[in-house]
Amino acid sequence: MVTREQNGKPDVAPEGLEVLRLFMNTRDLEAEFDELDEATHLATWLQSHELLRAGETVDQADVAKAVRLREAIRAVLRDRSDPSRASAAAAAFNMAAQSAAPLQVEISPDLVIKLVSTRSGVPRALARIVAAVAEHAGTPCWERLKVCSNPDCQWAFYDHARNKTGRWCNMATCGNKSKAKSYRRRQVEAATASIPKTP
Ligand SMILES: [Zn+2]
Repeated sequence: MVTREQNGKPDVAPEGLEVLRLFMNTRDLEAEFDELDEATHLATWLQSHELLRAGETVDQADVAKAVRLREAIRAVLRDRSDPSRASAAAAAFNMAAQSAAPLQVEISPDLVIKLVSTRSGVPRALARIVAAVAEHAGTPCWERLKVCSNPDCQWAFYDHARNKTGRWCNMATCGNKSKAKSYRRRQVEAATASIPKTP
């Protein structure tokens, strides 16, 4: 199967952040396809993104940790502007990050702080994903990394629009679907409101 990502999309994020977008898009909700559904597939994906060395092993527990981390990152991005959901999303991310990827702080002689992993294999690979979140969270680029507002899609995209107001991965598909849905909802509401109430 060719994923949407392999089809080529114009919403590539800046270096460092792009790995997060690609990681989230290993799941295609609309196509019901998950690229990280088993250990060998996770190994292939991590190796092709230079996160895992040849010969490093991957097991089913690693798959569960990777998927949990991926969905936790998606939830953080999706729910960040919703006060009723943002703290649950942050807590879920903290738990997923802790169990997937222990990290420690390192400072260089020129005072650059880095989060590093002393582990190998999948914990090191997932630690690099978590470190990418830590390095970018709160930056202007981070605000542009978004999850499509269509709940059936939730595709990760980088919003290149000058005003940063993009809500959908693709206006022609998800944007129009959402607009059509709201239009239908308004029509139904208007029709219901115009029905005279019987005493
Ligand atoms: Zn979408």
